[in-house]
Amino acid sequence: MASIFTKIIKGEIPSYKIAEDDNFYAFLDINPNTPGHTLCIPKKEVDRLLDLDEETYMGLMAFSRKVGLAIEAAIPCDRVGLTVIGLEVPHVHVHLIPLNDMRDATFQHKVPQSKDDFMEIAEKIKAKIK
Ligand code: AMP
Repeated sequence: MASIFTKIIKGEIPSYKIAEDDNFYAFLDINPNTPGHTLCIPKKEVDRLLDLDEETYMGLMAFSRKVGLAIEAAIPCDRVGLTVIGLEVPHVHVHLIPLNDMRDATFQHKVPQSKDDFMEIAEKIKAKIK
């Protein structure tokens, strides 16, 4: 069965899209650690990061860098953290998280966002994509 993220790529489930190219897709995390928390995924559905072929792995990192730079330009924060976990959704995803302190990186503290918040943040980040 297709992963929830494959359904997002296909447009079968809505997302707050940030960027897309032939191989990768970025969208806001629906339960963000901090506003601007974004997921970058390969369109190819693979569960584990280290099972990606090298070209897709390197491409995902380059795509994540591009999106991360846009987040840093759009969202006031000390830095953007990058982490890969994958215990919930079995489709490789890079978390890009605006960080100000360690708590923002723990996944224990969440900042609920309204639909309007998500839309506004997505527009701000998209405007900074180069
Ligand atoms: P993990 O697999 O532990 O790295 O976490 C999966 C992440 O996907 C969590 O941060 C969820 O909030 C996020 N997530 C799950 N479903 C959706 C969705 N439909 N749209 C956006 N983010 C999602």
